[in-house]
Amino acid sequence: MVLGKVGEMRGSPRMVRVAAPGKINVSLRVGPPRADGYHGIASVFLAVSMYEVVTATRTQGQDVTVSITSAGPFDIPVDSVPLDDTNLAVRAARLLAEVSPGSTGVHLDILKSVPVSGGMGGGSADAAAALLACEALWGSGFSRDELARIAAELGADVPFALLGGTAVGLGVGERLTPAISKTPLHFVLVPADYGLSTPVVYRLLDGIRQRKGVEPPAPEIDPSILGAMRAGDGAGLAPLLHNDLQEAALELAPGLRDILDVGQKAGALAGIVSGSGPTMAFLASSEVHATDLESRLTAAGLIAMAVSGPAHGARIRSDSSA
Ligand code: ATP
Repeated sequence: MVLGKVGEMRGSPRMVRVAAPGKINVSLRVGPPRADGYHGIASVFLAVSMYEVVTATRTQGQDVTVSITSAGPFDIPVDSVPLDDTNLAVRAARLLAEVSPGSTGVHLDILKSVPVSGGMGGGSADAAAALLACEALWGSGFSRDELARIAAELGADVPFALLGGTAVGLGVGERLTPAISKTPLHFVLVPADYGLSTPVVYRLLDGIRQRKGVEPPAPEIDPSILGAMRAGDGAGLAPLLHNDLQEAALELAPGLRDILDVGQKAGALAGIVSGSGPTMAFLASSEVHATDLESRLTAAGLIAMAVSGPAHGARIRSDSSA
């Protein structure tokens, strides 16, 4: 409490608002299951311009509470997101509070844009945003690297939501190496009105490989992907888009095949399941092409949204003093 008071005297904010991006995996290679049950991956992550916004407001006591609203344009079923201690943003705040002497009670209000259980790391973005917001609220004094280490304890995709941009992810995705890609790439996202459970998709991939007698190689990234991304070369990137989870996602949700067809007919350079799905990502050659593709997909009766990447990682949008 004393530290809290000192913080307040220094003008600690009463409220901090942070935006953190959803991601797509431009390439996702998955290895065999490890002894701990997780899978080693090699992935190229791209943060896209679809942000979760978390507003952290100081409260009395030490409680962490959460509320969730859908920001649109996707109609996100926010009631599928837990409001208890299993919410990833709540877990993030609690974890940070354990190592922040100036921690106080906090209310986290999450404005969701990223589809839930959609394979775009929405929960991870919420956790990253909550970490950065609470760090600023409590004046915890952690560097970005220290926050990334805390983030990795919460989930494999949380460090990337903190970092943003383009990065190669190894390990379970938490060992990140930022990659240069300044020229924007344009995608159109098509969400589903249902979710896919990430562990279920991974398990089915193992099952499919067993069925086929396929021994997966150690996952690696094709360096030409990074070259195409650095150049913002959509046409060059199109044949390199790859997702080892796609077959499993398509088996669980066969309707996604039709959406891939619609995207192809609408003129996408390529289409891919995002992460563990079911959100689909269609690559466009330019912003104009993405807008056109978005219109065509919408005309075909789908919900579609043009986005670009690389987008920034978790970033403070505003704060207000006590
Ligand atoms: P990933 O690809 O990182 O596994 P995802 O994008 O497919 O994740 P999320 O939306 O992050 O899926 O949610 C996955 C699960 O986590 C859901 O079962 C959801 O109920 C739970 N969850 C916990 N906290 C959150 C949160 N803040 N936002 C969304 N989901 C959350």
